[in-house]
Amino acid sequence: MGVKGIPVTKHETGLITTRLDEVIRWGRKNSLWPLPFGTACCAIEFMGAVSSVFDISRFGAELVRFSPRQSDLLLVAGTINYKLGPVLKRIYDQMCEPRYVISMGACACSGGFYDNYATIQGIDQIIPVDVFIPGCPPRPDAVLDAVVKLQEMIDKEPQRRPRQPERERERPR
Ligand code: SF4
Repeated sequence: MGVKGIPVTKHETGLITTRLDEVIRWGRKNSLWPLPFGTACCAIEFMGAVSSVFDISRFGAELVRFSPRQSDLLLVAGTINYKLGPVLKRIYDQMCEPRYVISMGACACSGGFYDNYATIQGIDQIIPVDVFIPGCPPRPDAVLDAVVKLQEMIDKEPQRRPRQPERERERPR
């Protein structure tokens, strides 16, 4: 076994061989580029997660980007109302595959205590979510935990991640 779970074979010649898909998965999971879609207080907790105290860069996910074309991890932190829903969907659609989504906090996961006509009761109604973080607000440690869980998921997925319509069909009803 080689670096961080990548199986390698060392030959007497000094050559090291491994499988291409293992290397791609290893690269993907250790270089997530998050796009923080912060709309409320949970975004402040995300700032804590990227600060030097919690240091998300230990997990290779510190390169925050504000362009969907440069990101592969959409991190939704805060309340999403129906007016904002199409904006979130468009940003998700503009991200290249493979793309991942973390829903941070009760508001993004389920609407939280905003059980009213204006608030979407969970962003999974409009985009697929890979990891949910419960809590109001979740601590920065919970964000790190979600990143680790996502890395474990990436480690197990096939080299070609199904595109969104295929993933939609796979979701349990
Ligand atoms: S879950 Fe709580 S902390 Fe997070 S955005 Fe909603 S009200 Fe704010």
